[in-house]
Amino acid sequence: MSAITTALTASFFTFAIPSSISLEQVTKDVSFLASDNLKGRGNFSTEINQAADYIAKRFEENGLVSAKEISTQGFLQKYQITKISPKELSLVLNDQMIPSENITMASTVANFSWLVENGITTGEFKIHSIGKDDDMPAIISSMNKQGGKHLALINSAHKDIFKRYQQYFKKERTKLTQTDADKTKGGVIVMTLSDTMTADVISLKVLGINSISKSELTNVVAVLPGKTKPDEIVLYSAHYDHLGVSTTEAGTTDKIYNGANDDASGTAAIINIAQYYAKQNNNARTLMFVAFSAEEIGGFGSRYFSQQLDPDKITAMINIEMIGKASKFGAGTLWMTGMERSNLGEKLNLVLAKSGKKIYKDPYPEQGLFYRSDNATLARLGVPAHSFSSTQLDKDQHYHKVSDDLSSLDLSSLHKVIEALAIATNPLVDGSVTPSRIDVNKVKSKGVIY
Ligand SMILES: [Zn+2]
Repeated sequence: MSAITTALTASFFTFAIPSSISLEQVTKDVSFLASDNLKGRGNFSTEINQAADYIAKRFEENGLVSAKEISTQGFLQKYQITKISPKELSLVLNDQMIPSENITMASTVANFSWLVENGITTGEFKIHSIGKDDDMPAIISSMNKQGGKHLALINSAHKDIFKRYQQYFKKERTKLTQTDADKTKGGVIVMTLSDTMTADVISLKVLGINSISKSELTNVVAVLPGKTKPDEIVLYSAHYDHLGVSTTEAGTTDKIYNGANDDASGTAAIINIAQYYAKQNNNARTLMFVAFSAEEIGGFGSRYFSQQLDPDKITAMINIEMIGKASKFGAGTLWMTGMERSNLGEKLNLVLAKSGKKIYKDPYPEQGLFYRSDNATLARLGVPAHSFSSTQLDKDQHYHKVSDDLSSLDLSSLHKVIEALAIATNPLVDGSVTPSRIDVNKVKSKGVIY
């Protein structure tokens, strides 16, 4: 790890230490989750289920209970993922067959066909022409946010960007399986390089075929029911999935993405904070602990979770991400994303100030970290939802590498960060503090098609 100044670390050792969070237990949990046996906890692997069972067992042995209304089986919350792969796409425009190198699509539906004959349109879709001076990525992105069915006729001036979209859309895409209620969300974007203007489309025939398969993933959810404010929920979360086993990383015999820091460290944190508050046994609010899957492939675990309960009941979300190493502010210190979006950080810092500590502002704003973890999904619903981290993202050599294993962690720093979070969040737990909500109009929305 990088050098730490003594001045910064010194104050931390004066911090009051809650007795029931032990370095030994934290080490045990993170070691199990990051072990080679779990093969990098890849989504859809058998090993990720072993991780889920372990987390559930740890919750259970500490006396937490399942969240009955939102769990499917004990502590497990299972949900469906849809995988979509493009198979065929053809486009005939004004009697000209468009060559396949000039067309691409992103679709959430299996099959679709659109027709324009003699100016009469069959099928509900819109035709847009994107001229050479238009901001093509912005237009495509707004279609993606809106959903619905779109054909974009893109001026050849945008050829290079078009090719990038084409590369991206070629790949299998993963989506949260939609419930019947939100079947209307999603849609299709077909893009073609063509200088034809919308008004000049006389005849058109589009045919798209995708292959679709479904698989199951699991979140782990546990609860400590609130003693006096049971309807108010304080949510502690981390993701327990990681990247699985490498098929490409060359020059090394190690192929396992252990994800010790990302995010076995955060998962160990929520387990040990759960244990800490279970022992205290005096939480006014309901404490909910969630280990999400699918964070690394699009955040579908948190998306599904957020649709199962009323977000207005969630007082705050403490999402813990990559806390296994000393931050740039010293060992045992941490920072949070989106600090300016609610007063949660300020409230937590009032507690920490008593011991001369604080949670820092995200020192890497250019990295867009607020949007790069599960908190963003809940923030879009107004929850004061932030990620807490300590990794030096500008320098870290192990991020999303097979070398993110146990030996790269600073376990003592990890332990101290977990203690700091347990103490800092106490006023949320005892019901004395309610942070301000996040303004949903200031949170960027996500696309619904790709
Ligand atoms: Zn990651």
